[in-house]
Amino acid sequence: MSKTPLLDLQAQYRQLQEEIKEAITGVLESGRYILGPEVAALEEEIALYSGTRYGVGVGNGTDALLLVLNAWGIGPGDEVITTPFTFFATAEVISRLGARPVFVDVDPETGNLDVSQLKEKVTERTKAVIPVHIFGQPADLDEVTRFAEKHGLWVLEDAAQAIGAEYKGKRIGSFGDAATYSFFPTKNLGGYGDGGMVVTDDEELVAKLKSLRVHGRSPNSKYHNDVIGYNSRLDELQAAALRVKLRYLDQWNQARRERAHRYDRLLRDLPVETPVVAADRTSIYHLYIIRTDQRDALMEHLKSQGIGTAAYYPVPLHLQKVYRELGYREGDLPVAEKLCRQSMALPLYPELDEEKQERVADAVKAFFHA
Ligand SMILES: *Cc1c(COP(=O)(O)O)cnc(C)c1O
Repeated sequence: MSKTPLLDLQAQYRQLQEEIKEAITGVLESGRYILGPEVAALEEEIALYSGTRYGVGVGNGTDALLLVLNAWGIGPGDEVITTPFTFFATAEVISRLGARPVFVDVDPETGNLDVSQLKEKVTERTKAVIPVHIFGQPADLDEVTRFAEKHGLWVLEDAAQAIGAEYKGKRIGSFGDAATYSFFPTKNLGGYGDGGMVVTDDEELVAKLKSLRVHGRSPNSKYHNDVIGYNSRLDELQAAALRVKLRYLDQWNQARRERAHRYDRLLRDLPVETPVVAADRTSIYHLYIIRTDQRDALMEHLKSQGIGTAAYYPVPLHLQKVYRELGYREGDLPVAEKLCRQSMALPLYPELDEEKQERVADAVKAFFHA
């Protein structure tokens, strides 16, 4: 039985092998391994790609969020509003700084933050909103930024899953006060290890981030420290590889979209909900998520057929054990809770072939017709 994994990172590497090896060798021979010319070049290229003036490379996508919130001075006594239907890191960074995550429920179709509910959650302690472009589809950016402006809040786009996705004809990344990317290997632009980046137009923020990522160091001297910082840098090897990959990103995102649309057609008459993308945006389908009340049984069935799947996300953040102290109860954010019971990812990557997709669809069909 041929297997169909959820993701196949080696397939992409095989295509790029020569270019990647050349880029890596260049770094190895250069003797510059941390914050050198490759990182600087990637920062410029990603900023250009995102329609922002600046990029700041950091150790991973989590630190990208953390350093921005820290640079904005968010800490104990502050509240930051975000979605419970995301990867844990989005809320973790708020808590890490001693601030309080405040969760709003999500839109039942897109799974993105439900902007109409922001009003009820904002207090005089609220400092920022973090919309997450979940599974590769942009959040309602105009509505979020309008709301934030009215209430004097920062907007941080968590774009870890959405580099290259478009909102009203423009790539995400420049709508908020800052946006963050992750280059974790499974992300659409993934490195061969950890990596992350912040993009922004804000020069003052950039100066703070560049200090924070090197221990809060003073801009003029290695051994003078202005604030307590971090050791969180993108390294030259990752940057060199990512610069090669960035050239293929749009092509890969397009290939994902085509495969997603093929699944849409193949699954059309089955009792599963396929992804809904709002008319004024594009998704880069970081994940292809379907929904069914029989999620766990369907996953079990597909697994028995050698097909990789995963539940995204099994637990909404407001019901995570660590967040019991925040006082949320089951039923408080019913849409996110329902999505967490129903959602699962099917195999999707740019190199996935038609035959494999048909096999996946046939296996889903067999499950429902059994
Ligand atoms: C992956 C991810 C992160 C964290 O990125 P890392 O590079 O793994 O630290 C943050 N937010 C979201 C939505 C993610 O998917």
